Amino acid sequence: MMPKKKFPIWHPFTQHALQGEITSGDGAYLYTADGRRIIDAISSWWVVTHGHCHPQIVSAIQEQAGKLNQIIFAGYTHDPAEEVAEMLLKVGPRGLDHVFFSDSGSTSVEVALKMALGYWRNIGERRTSIVVLQHSYHGDTIGAMSVGARGVFNAAYRPLLFDVISIPFPAKGRERETLNALYAAFQDEFPAVLVVEPLILGAGGMLIYPAWVLREMKRICESFGVLFIADEVMTGWGRTGTLFACEQADITPDIACYSKRLTGGALPLAVTLCRAEIFEAHYSKDRVRTFFHSSSYTANPLACAAAKANLDLWQDQESCKRVTTVAAMQEHAIEPFRADARFENVRRTGTITALDLKASDGGYLASIGPKLQAFFRDRNLLLRPLGNTIYVMPPYCVAAADLDEIYGAIRAAADAVT
Ligand SMILES: *Cc1c(COP(=O)(O)O)cnc(C)c1O
Repeated sequence: MMPKKKFPIWHPFTQHALQGEITSGDGAYLYTADGRRIIDAISSWWVVTHGHCHPQIVSAIQEQAGKLNQIIFAGYTHDPAEEVAEMLLKVGPRGLDHVFFSDSGSTSVEVALKMALGYWRNIGERRTSIVVLQHSYHGDTIGAMSVGARGVFNAAYRPLLFDVISIPFPAKGRERETLNALYAAFQDEFPAVLVVEPLILGAGGMLIYPAWVLREMKRICESFGVLFIADEVMTGWGRTGTLFACEQADITPDIACYSKRLTGGALPLAVTLCRAEIFEAHYSKDRVRTFFHSSSYTANPLACAAAKANLDLWQDQESCKRVTTVAAMQEHAIEPFRADARFENVRRTGTITALDLKASDGGYLASIGPKLQAFFRDRNLLLRPLGNTIYVMPPYCVAAADLDEIYGAIRAAADAVT
């Protein structure tokens, strides 16, 4: 191996003193160049579903690689994309009729916003304002950043971001404030769309809110004729206990975004699903009304083959049962922390747990964050706290013994790091 001197690769969200090299992955484990086995407690940034290098997904990619790697998706189609779209419309929220492919969570949100504004323009209604939830995260492209929380992540790019109306996060006991703020936001503007992460705000700190609030927000949107975008990039595919988080509120969004876990974590792919009216508003002989969005690799066949294999795995009842099992295992593991005075806000939704280590300074850049990360790395655990918020989001194949190790380390960290 060549010694690494400069930093030819500019890593995301990384200060370059911190580096690790991984050579292979298998199930819930990652293996390093120097022979260590690491438990992946965050599913490699939330994307891995049934485990690293799942044999069915690997062979689907291999098989597709020998057939068709890439084809322009404007005016052409292929089997893997057709199959994925068909399956998505079957398992996704009832009432969504069209699938638009892109390649990351951020672009799926950009597509959703463009669909929504394009819809209003094409039907001739002047509706332009966008309402969002405080502390949201929707990605790192300019539009996705604009609808996300303002803060250290995007302070430098402020001049590029467009204005949105932000309503307070529905914190426990203050849910009505959120709903009232939503009413107010819809009254004095030309409301076009509400964008939300359903049930849990991920990068904003694993903040959980109840399904009834989600349902109410949707109902208020309906009464004002405002489009509802569910960004299920983080929540999709079992994470909150149901296949999609919106199921728990019994709602169908007008537009839904899915990306993380869509290919089981093997390749980048995203989809934006929408209602028929939104597609139809763009369907015309008048080419001005075309939906003007694409990227070179839209619906890449290899990524679609991986997604198809992943969707096949979800057809198996075992996968759904596994989500319930992991949720129960997670509850069992987090339960003792509720009585542990060193932690607060101990919480769980579905297969995700989170807890805040009491620290003198909070927030994403809290000095405790990197210390915790280093502590876990030394114990061969991939955990990446958001400031003083530690969360566990394992692949669904995680073993009880792995969770024991993870939570044992969290317990040890509280004394070692504070
Ligand atoms: C991660 C995430 C995104 C962005 O996805 P990328 O694939 O990283 O672009 C968007 N929305 C939510 C809720 C996310 O968690």
